[in-house]
Amino acid sequence: MDCLVSVVVPGEQVYGVAAVTTELVEQARALHGASPTAAAALGRLLTGGVLLSTQLKDPSHRLLLQVSGRGPVRKVVAEADGAGRVRGYLGQPVVQVPSRNGKLDVAAAVGKGILHVIKDVGLPQPASGTVPLVSGEIAEDLAAYLLQSEQIPSAVALGVFVSPDYTVTAAGGFLVQTLASVPESLLEHLERTLAAVPPVTAMVREGNTPYEMLQQALAGLPLQVVRQATPQWHCRCSRERVVAALVALGARELRQLIAEEEVTHVRCEFCTTAYTFTREELEALLREALT
Ligand SMILES: [Zn+2]
Repeated sequence: MDCLVSVVVPGEQVYGVAAVTTELVEQARALHGASPTAAAALGRLLTGGVLLSTQLKDPSHRLLLQVSGRGPVRKVVAEADGAGRVRGYLGQPVVQVPSRNGKLDVAAAVGKGILHVIKDVGLPQPASGTVPLVSGEIAEDLAAYLLQSEQIPSAVALGVFVSPDYTVTAAGGFLVQTLASVPESLLEHLERTLAAVPPVTAMVREGNTPYEMLQQALAGLPLQVVRQATPQWHCRCSRERVVAALVALGARELRQLIAEEEVTHVRCEFCTTAYTFTREELEALLREALT
């Protein structure tokens, strides 16, 4: 089952969070019909969203991660909220990218580009930051964002394993952060242990829990669990939200849709749900927009 565990090292400014996200990543892959390399890119970003969402203090707060690149997937988007719910999509979910050294080549699927992060924590203006992609492998790109935009030195590891039948059978990741100055000896210890951690997909496939992944990433340090949660795939779209968006388009746009389309289809990019509106329904919305 998917799960998430956050820990601190008592007495030190070290924070760790790890997650197993196999089920939600497989759900996303199936929903979008993503080919293996695209599924890995989306799964890594969704998992990164799950890990970073633990920094949100309220379930209603949201984090949007948007990777735009020149590679064939073009765009990878993940949104996570403070309750550990995530949703996401790809610009192009079906891509042909050859493997590199027997591994899915996520960097080639993403290409050179940028990572844009928007944090909505209930303030009038959401905070945002943009960094150039370091590698397009997603984990390194998130670490670069955390260092450059939030000044938090972070180690991020993300992994998605796609089986020969194209289903996702292992996904997860971990994030380790040093929140303030920590002793040099501890930093060196962290660097050594992090460098020796097995790949995330290996740990998840061997059945390691998030806590066990953190034990390996922070080997030898005492860990105190501060949070456990179940990350989930969840799309918050609804017909009501689509109606509100259509009304917000304004009378001119609505009149144009009514003139051009017998039936208007609005598709949610995140979960692919299609909402349909007849001309009569749109005319009712137009009257609403005019009042
Ligand atoms: Zn949706």
